[in-house]
Order: sequence, then structure tokens, then C-alpha cells
Amino acid sequence: MSEVRVRFAPSPTGYLHVGSLRSALYNYLYARNNNGRVVLRIEDTDRERLVEDAIEKMISTFKRVNIEFDEGPVQGGDHGPYIQSERFNLYQKYAAQLVESGHAYYCFCTRDDLDEMRKQQSEAGQDVKYDKRCLHLPKEEVEKRLAAGEPYVIRLNVPAGRVITFDDSIHGPTSFETDYIDDQVLLKSDGFPTYHLAVVVDDHHMGITQVLRADEWIPSTPKHILLYEALGWEPPQIGHIPLLINTEGKKLSKRDGDVSVEDYLDKGFLPEALVNYLALIGWNPGNDEEFFSLNELENLFTLERVNDSPGVFDVEKLKWMNGKYIRSRDMAELVELVRPYVEKSDIAIPEDEEKFRWMVEAIHEGLEYLAQAPEKLRIFYQDDFAVTEPESLELLQLDSSKQLFTILKDKVAIVDKLTPDVMKGLLKDAGKEAGVKGKLLFMPTRLAVSGNQHGPDLMLLICGMGKEQVIKRLERWI
Ligand code: GLU
Repeated sequence: MSEVRVRFAPSPTGYLHVGSLRSALYNYLYARNNNGRVVLRIEDTDRERLVEDAIEKMISTFKRVNIEFDEGPVQGGDHGPYIQSERFNLYQKYAAQLVESGHAYYCFCTRDDLDEMRKQQSEAGQDVKYDKRCLHLPKEEVEKRLAAGEPYVIRLNVPAGRVITFDDSIHGPTSFETDYIDDQVLLKSDGFPTYHLAVVVDDHHMGITQVLRADEWIPSTPKHILLYEALGWEPPQIGHIPLLINTEGKKLSKRDGDVSVEDYLDKGFLPEALVNYLALIGWNPGNDEEFFSLNELENLFTLERVNDSPGVFDVEKLKWMNGKYIRSRDMAELVELVRPYVEKSDIAIPEDEEKFRWMVEAIHEGLEYLAQAPEKLRIFYQDDFAVTEPESLELLQLDSSKQLFTILKDKVAIVDKLTPDVMKGLLKDAGKEAGVKGKLLFMPTRLAVSGNQHGPDLMLLICGMGKEQVIKRLERWI
């Protein structure tokens, strides 16, 4: 059997859409699961949509999520170049060959000609598609117009009356009638190929055995099959991955908020969480398990378990999963992950590293993504918080609470070093001396230091504040 080869073929738009990452991921996982190779090919033939540095940015994003390509613009390989704008001659050659064999033809229609034609067709209630008028130009006229330097495109001559069927690797047998297929432009007037010509030429020349791309390309596939046929090439297996939709059932778009992988990573979604979550939208391992490392996914992924209906991208679920991944890191690591976010904020990291560690540990339970850390750490910096909630005020103003705070404050003042264990002991002793326990011990203390009945672990909270600050906060309520 020949080696499995897949490709991810993005157009460099300046950012990586989460849906594109999922497509790339499925290609990557499929390749790894089949001991195959995965190729990165940059489809930059749409010169109007080019964005500076887009290729470099995309490659660095893939690095951040640990998806490695076996061949591509950086790694090189035997099937390069891997950037379409560097493969120019190849497309020209096949466009000419297709004209020669009668599968394509020169078209000199101007934009105005086409607009007029479309207008007439829609007024007459006909399907709007190119009417092949240039197909019938006499050969001599074509040559004359070419020699005169008249602008042209090359169009695919779609045969009438045929049904094109392919066995989609995800959706199963899929058919299209050629009567509804437009004579697709293959080579544009600027000499650049369109996506359709380039994708077929490249998939063939790069030895791709399985195409996996987004559902939106399904209507293009019959055109590609016609091209394979016209060029005398065997098409690869082709599968289309269902769309990502939002929780309202709409196509995930930039307007709905974050769709760029870079934005998620910058906000402190961990690569392993993003990859895990995206893998599970539209694929399942056949059981209820939800947490998989990239390595585990590589071993488990099969196309048979890819869903054939759209997958819901639910940011809340992603946050939940990311929170789990955050809490699975050990504390020293987490402190380093959080640090740059705090450094960028207006919050000053304490000189006492241990204190910072307690602070991070205190807030880490509630973290959904790292960029939330500075906001959550504010609790350690606002001493003069107000308490307005009646039940809380009542608890703070109890005589027993004031007595407790006084005893506790003195104990904290003389202790050598605050740790959660030491603090637990102090609180217990203070409670005994003040004659309070349970809710009347913990709740007033929590309220006095944070103003809130809920929140981080109390001992961590106090250790994160440090002696001076705790004393100050207790004094406020005495
Ligand atoms: N360049 C196309 C895109 O931007 C790739 C489609 C394909 O994979 O064939 O999505």
C-alpha cells in the first residue's frame, strides 16, 4: 500500500480560524494514526487577499499548539516548493495542456460582458452561469486576440448532461449534475491560477492520498474530479469536515467574538486544552471520555468516528475544559504561566515569591483562562472594600466576631511565618479562645479579609495577603 499523505492548505489570511485549526488537526491526527505524512501547503494565489507576515504568523501558531508538519515551507521536502505562488509554471503548463486537449478554453469576456450576461439570464429566469460563448470562437480568432495581447482567462469546459459522483470519506456517496456547474475559471487574467486548478495540480504532484477539508468545499469537488479526469490523474480520497457552528446554530464567524486561535492562546487558553476541545467537536472516541493528550488522540483518531453534521463550538465548554487543564498543571508551572499576564497588568508582583505563589494558588480554582488572573488577584490589593450585604454586615458586627478578630490579629502578629497549615492552627486556637466555631468562625474571618462570603480557600487567601495586610484588614472591623 502506498504511504498515506495528507495536507493542510490554508490561504494566508493573517490569522488561524479555530475551524481551520480543527481541519489541520484532523489531517494531522489522520496522518499520525496511519503512519503517514502531513504537508503544509500555502495557497496564496488570491493576490488580493494577501496579508503581510501571514505565513510566518500561521507557522508560529502551529508551533504554539504543537502541531508539526512533515513537509512544508519551513521543513522543505521532496514535493516542494510548498507555497503556491512559487509553483507558477506548473499551473500555466497544465492550463495550456487542458486547452490543448479541449477540456478548457480561452475566454475574453470582460467584466461588463459577464454582468450583462448574468443580468439577462436572471431576468429570463435562467440559471446564472457562463454561457460558453467563448468556447465557440474560431481558432484563428482566438490566436489573433491572444497575439494582440487582449486579456483572457482560461475556463474549464464542463461537459453537459453528466453526473459526477464521489465517495466522500465523511459524508459517503455524493453526486452533482454537471448541468448546474459553471465553467470555472482556472487561470485568471493576471496569470495566476484559481484555487481549483492549483489545488488539483498540487494535490496530485504532492502525492496526496487523502484530502480532508471543510464542508464549504463540497460544491467545488465535482469540478476537481472533472479536472483529474481531464488530466488523466487518479483523484485522492476526498472527505469534507462539517462546519463549526455557534450555540445558536449559526456559522462561527468573526462577529461572534473570538474565532482566531491566536486570540485564544493570547488570552491564556492552553494549547492542549484548545486541541483537546477542538478534536472533540465532530469526533468522538466511541465512549464518554473527554480528556485526551495530543498523543492519545493520535492513537485513537479514525475518520469513521467523525460526525457528518455540524459541530457546536461552545466557548463556555472550552473555558470549563481549559480550567481543568490549568488545574492539572503543578503550582510552580502555573505561577510561571500566570506571571506574564500579571506583569502586563497594573498589578505589582510582590517581591516575596512565596507570597505570589500563595496568591496564584488561591485564585487558581476559579481560573478559566490565564488572562483572568490579574482581575482575580485584585482581591489582594483592595484593602478598603465595602460590605453592603446585610447578612455579611451582621456577621462582621457580632461581638464574638470582633473578639475573634482581635485575638486572631495578635496571633498573626507574633507568628514567624504564615503558611496555610500555621494559619489553620491559629484560626482554630483563636476560635476556641473567642468561643466560636464553624460558620461563626470562618465566615466572619473570610468577610473581614475579603468582603465576600465566597471565594478562594481562606488559608491561601490569608497567606497570599501576608501578615501586615491581614492585620490591617482585621483591624478595620474591630
Ligand atoms: N485554501 C483553501 C482554504 O483556504 C483550502 C481548501 C482545501 O483544503 O482544498 O481553505
